Amino acid sequence: MPVDIKKAANISPGTGVPTAEELAEINKFTRRELAAEEVYTFSVVLCDNEIDRDCEQFVPEALKKLAELFAGKSGGYNHSGNAHEQVMRIYDAAAQAHDVKQNSVGEPYVRLQAKAYLLRGKENEKLINAIDAGIRKEVSVSCAVRGVTCSICGKPPSVDGGCTHMRGKEYDGKLCYRILSDPSDAYEFSFVMVPAQPAAGVTKSKSPGGEEIDEMEETNLTEQEIREKYPEVVTAIEKAAGDAAAAAAVTEERARLKGIQSLASKAEPEMAEEAMFGETACDKATFAVRVLEAMKDDGKAALEAMEKAGEAAAKVKAAGNHGDVPGTPGGAEELSAQDIADIEKAAMAFNKENGRATKCT
Ligand SMILES: [Zn+2]
Repeated sequence: MPVDIKKAANISPGTGVPTAEELAEINKFTRRELAAEEVYTFSVVLCDNEIDRDCEQFVPEALKKLAELFAGKSGGYNHSGNAHEQVMRIYDAAAQAHDVKQNSVGEPYVRLQAKAYLLRGKENEKLINAIDAGIRKEVSVSCAVRGVTCSICGKPPSVDGGCTHMRGKEYDGKLCYRILSDPSDAYEFSFVMVPAQPAAGVTKSKSPGGEEIDEMEETNLTEQEIREKYPEVVTAIEKAAGDAAAAAAVTEERARLKGIQSLASKAEPEMAEEAMFGETACDKATFAVRVLEAMKDDGKAALEAMEKAGEAAAKVKAAGNHGDVPGTPGGAEELSAQDIADIEKAAMAFNKENGRATKCT
């Protein structure tokens, strides 16, 4: 049974303008003839025969076959597979061997170079700008291969009596990796958010004059060489990339809980608990409004306090509604020190009023 494979790669924007030959290739895939100014083109190295992060390697024959399979395949975002999100198409793909360069195990370096196009115009304007600016550059390709074997023993890894070697481990000084061959299908390629692969992004671009520049020479280090040369840097980058997503979520949640906590003393413990972890969990601004509303329910004294703190409440509500407190990208989540002081003043005013009312009756 074929195994599905996903690989990361980097795109190179180039000038975005197709040559006459390229336009002819593109028009093989279109229903009406497109003009050069209607399309935007870029290059992408879909994969190569380097041993990658997953300790997998395509054999050159597989790259050749993949070039055929990928020609005409469309691309979108995050491997969604939604037809309306298909924004680009590969119009040309070829396996290219390099004369001098070798991969990390001493074989001639071969890469699968593809050219893709998308339509210019309002809908793709943002995407084209992002590609030109180098912001959108990571793509991931997915395909299926029938052959997966071990580099040490040559057996398939997943069958009974098959290979028992661990990929990524060395045996008698030889790295164990999986050799991928016999591709059966190429699905699509997608823009994704992935950590940059050290060896990816080696690709052809075009100078403004239209001459092809081969950037291969400038990035002669293989991933293995980079790993050996800059081990700390590679470890740090990998760790940072892996931690970044998790950290962002943790930071956001921590800020939310901290915000609620800073007002928790003004509310019933159950209210704070609910705001933090309950079904109606909310951000700080919403919680502040709830606290003030709970005070309102408590009686006339609270209402008077509310009036006095009307401005603060309005501010909090405005922040809750719009989430656009100046200078705070997090919006409602991140109230200014003044806002917090106002909320606390309102709560104090309430407590004071409430205390006096209790004494009088
Ligand atoms: Zn093996």
